[in-house]
Amino acid sequence: MPTLRQLFLANNAQTTDFPLLLEFERAEGIYLYNSEGKAYIDLISGIGVSNLGHSNPKVIAAIKQQVDKYMHLMVYGEYVQTPQVKFAEKLISIFPKNLQSVYFTNSGTEAVEGALKLAKRYTGRQQIIACHNSYHGSTHGALSVMGNEEYKQAYRPLLPGVNFIRFNNTDDLSQITEETACVIIETVQGEAGIRVPDIAYIQALRAKCTETGTLLILDEIQAAFGRTGKLFGFEHFGIVPDILLLAKALGGGMPVGAFAASHTIMSALKENPILGHITTFGGHPVCCAAGLAALEVLLDEKLCDQVAEKEALIRSLLVHPSIKQIRGKGLMLAAELENFDLNKKIIDRCIENGVIVDWFLHCSNAMRIAPPLIITHDEIRKACEVILEAVEFYS
Ligand code: PMP
Repeated sequence: MPTLRQLFLANNAQTTDFPLLLEFERAEGIYLYNSEGKAYIDLISGIGVSNLGHSNPKVIAAIKQQVDKYMHLMVYGEYVQTPQVKFAEKLISIFPKNLQSVYFTNSGTEAVEGALKLAKRYTGRQQIIACHNSYHGSTHGALSVMGNEEYKQAYRPLLPGVNFIRFNNTDDLSQITEETACVIIETVQGEAGIRVPDIAYIQALRAKCTETGTLLILDEIQAAFGRTGKLFGFEHFGIVPDILLLAKALGGGMPVGAFAASHTIMSALKENPILGHITTFGGHPVCCAAGLAALEVLLDEKLCDQVAEKEALIRSLLVHPSIKQIRGKGLMLAAELENFDLNKKIIDRCIENGVIVDWFLHCSNAMRIAPPLIITHDEIRKACEVILEAVEFYS
């Protein structure tokens, strides 16, 4: 009898020769449990998804209730489906006033695709501006705006008319002109190793977009829903986007993404041609029911309010000569080490000792620290102890 691991390696497509190969039986709160009952602290929230931790009972109840009523009925946007309607209503109630309409997708990358198309369609312009070291997803459009040549070059030709600017560099904003359809940017860059921009930069970017009639697309797929200590990352910077991108924590553990804009902008998808973006499963009723329940928990339990304190605790604990810097905002943090080799050894030791951390796609010498927002101070102490032990071990 082959083991599960052997079957996984034989039958499930692999995208590296070095998958983590961890096996879990169940997950609850901040913990993942293997078949022997060993608990691992999930210090990365499944890459920015499990903001409420795993198996939140209210999210599970909402999923079960919806499954009993109906699952897929029709492609997106035709039938009036209660979970989609209620979820959009709730999201709009917490958005800034200009974001009045939500288009639900299957994933983050599909939200990116929809938003890029919408910006081109609405402005009638072709040029797109994105940032170096950005990550927006893995489909062709999203890959075209990824700021890392290494992952792109094998897939050309990609979208034409994409230009790159340096993140947090005000000089480069002069590239935004009346020819530019949109600037797509992560409010806090994730895969670049967590880079928080200056307030003055983001405000200048906003002003330049407004001045040139360019749509500002903020990708908050990783940063939203309390991750940075506010519901949305842009709240730290006193600006609002023209199009907001959401996914990951949006579904409370279920797969759903969204792009949101004003009625005026969004209505461009209805004309010349109609059906400007089509998706079968986008906004699946079960995912929307889960997402709504998750958002209610996030708001009712005021989880955002505890994030800054938890960040401060982590920063106060993770002090070691080998940790060169802790970057980030809230519970979206990166601990910078000397190089990838050291980082990888430390990460492996942490995992062995029951704390799951990892590195970043475009920044291999930094360790990702992004626990569920529900992590307690004691659990933070325990996780940081394990990290420090591993750092010390290899120093
Ligand atoms: N944008 C950002 C900032 C992301 O971090 C990710 C996923 N890591 C995506 C877009 C793509 O989302 P998905 O994997 O759901 O397609």
